[in-house]
Amino acid sequence: METLVIDHPLVAHKLTRLRDEDTSSATFRLLAEELVTLLAYEATDGLIVEPVQVTTPVGPASGVTLAEPKPLVVPILRAGLGMLNGMVKLMPTAEVGFLGMVRDETSLIASTYADRIPLDLSNRQVFVLDPMLATGGTLVAAIDLLLERGARDVTAICLLAAPEGIERVASAYAEREVRVRVVTACIDTCLNDRGYIVPGLGDAGDRLYGSV
Ligand code: URA
Repeated sequence: METLVIDHPLVAHKLTRLRDEDTSSATFRLLAEELVTLLAYEATDGLIVEPVQVTTPVGPASGVTLAEPKPLVVPILRAGLGMLNGMVKLMPTAEVGFLGMVRDETSLIASTYADRIPLDLSNRQVFVLDPMLATGGTLVAAIDLLLERGARDVTAICLLAAPEGIERVASAYAEREVRVRVVTACIDTCLNDRGYIVPGLGDAGDRLYGSV
């Protein structure tokens, strides 16, 4: 598995403001969106394009357009929804599928409660949006589902990751002939005994939408 940590002053600045417990939900949503757009720019560097001809006001020009089938963006509900706008702003022609996953706060095991993902993902590049790569359980369950449907190129965009989560995803796909990547703004220190990333930013879903 490839891990890409984006080292950029704007990424670090926005992440610091996201971490701050005094940042309001409204500002948090805005910052999360902006941060995703920056991460997405790097995460999409391998997008498959095909040649196209256009005519400028001055004459013919060769260019490229995104190849078919269009990439699929999959926010993992609920917190991944806070990343969707920032992603589709950059890639408006991508399709969007939804995956609802919840982790049991005691066992930390993830289960699926909503699945709006195409049944055939052959030849599709897939971008999973999950803000916090903590134990890796949710992300591995999501990637397994995508691979079962034929995806072979999956990039997870995470605002933050824990070393434990990176390790779990890496070992899950080490022996597989698939391309799995994690793109993140930072790899933090560790998980605490409740499975939260330290220092992290708290519960991303609660920070985005409140604790309902
Ligand atoms: N999910 C979160 O929202 N935050 C964490 O720190 C870990 C998992």
